[in-house]
Amino acid sequence: MDRLHGSASLMVVSDLDYTMVDHDDPGDLSLLSFNALWESFYRHDSLLVFSTGRSPTSYKLLRNEKPLLTPDVAVMSVGTEIAYGESMVPDVGWVQLLNNKWDREIVVEEASKFPELVPQSDIDQRPHKVSFYVEKVKALEIIDVLSEFLEKRGLDVKIIYSSGAALDVLPGGAGKGQALAYLLKKFAFEGKLPVNTLVCGDSGNDAELFTVPEVYGVMVSNAKEELLQWYQENTKNNPNILQANERCAAGIIQVIGNFGLGPNVSPRDIKDFQKCKLEITNPGHEVIKFYLFYERWRRAEIEMSERHMQNLKASFYLSGIFVHPSGFEQPIHQCIDEMKRLHGDRQGEHFRVWVDQVSSAQISSDTWLVKCKKWESCGDIRHCCLTTILISSKAEFPDEFTWWVFHAILLTVFLFHLTETSAPNSSRVM
Ligand SMILES: [Mg+2]
Repeated sequence: MDRLHGSASLMVVSDLDYTMVDHDDPGDLSLLSFNALWESFYRHDSLLVFSTGRSPTSYKLLRNEKPLLTPDVAVMSVGTEIAYGESMVPDVGWVQLLNNKWDREIVVEEASKFPELVPQSDIDQRPHKVSFYVEKVKALEIIDVLSEFLEKRGLDVKIIYSSGAALDVLPGGAGKGQALAYLLKKFAFEGKLPVNTLVCGDSGNDAELFTVPEVYGVMVSNAKEELLQWYQENTKNNPNILQANERCAAGIIQVIGNFGLGPNVSPRDIKDFQKCKLEITNPGHEVIKFYLFYERWRRAEIEMSERHMQNLKASFYLSGIFVHPSGFEQPIHQCIDEMKRLHGDRQGEHFRVWVDQVSSAQISSDTWLVKCKKWESCGDIRHCCLTTILISSKAEFPDEFTWWVFHAILLTVFLFHLTETSAPNSSRVM
């Protein structure tokens, strides 16, 4: 959490399935829009938190499958596990708190008295979460009786029913809301309480997020009946909680605008940057714009024209260098000339490019070193390059940039979304 020196200007705390990730959107367009918005305008001074019912294993599977950004904090297993950063460093203090009046074996023993409770798969069973499937008609009664049994055995538990099917037994101090309250307390102690916090959810296990004091909240348009009903009964008069008109990540983007929490037009939703100039001088945004152009160029969503090539060349220093993932160096203008042959080579394919973890270090009054992870996926193949760019603003037009050195290192290749393989010998990677 040391990435930011001060308070985050915005902390977005979002559920994943059917909130950040729309499983009914095979192109993941709203998620990709959110990604471009976040990396352009928020990554440098804000915090992204994913709060999911998924176990760490199931969360990693989703990350391999969908174009998810790397969050600053991952809260997993319905608020029973908190991990920080890319290396997912666990919060040991949180584990200690959850051990209070908790005994997993007693939960399993008492739950076995209810044949209607069908245990979920092994990867969803966690040290502080015992999970079952149960029919909706039986759920309420079981929750009451099981709570009583566990209380008699000296345990303090919380039972959450979600998505009309999943029943989770957790320590009494756990849950998505408690985990968020714990994080906020921790940030306050460090003097880094976020200026604004926006929580985002779609189902029953997200309800707790909306009860944390002083947060903004969005229920996405596809929110489940159980969450909407809970909202009607509990927080209907809270003006800081809205139901979006848009599904999933598009709903999050919409509500960022409704509450005036910051920019809410994703660069991905701007079709022509020449016609729609944004008044920002953020070199990270420049890199995102370039990769959007690169994606659209290869998908033939931009027409092949000399104007585009000349505009692109105008952004690159005449003697600039591109260093390929293979280590091969090439004059950057020559590289742009070679891009002509890539026009439309991915037309009609599921080809997408997105960037993650954009950071920029200012090294002089007008020059920055921008770093990011650039992901490219096409069908079942996905690869990631660590990209470093030396970039400076133009004296006469401070919102325009010149690229000097552009260096890409191939980090990872996935086949069929799951299997890591060796690096391919590709000169087409930018
Ligand atoms: Mg969900």
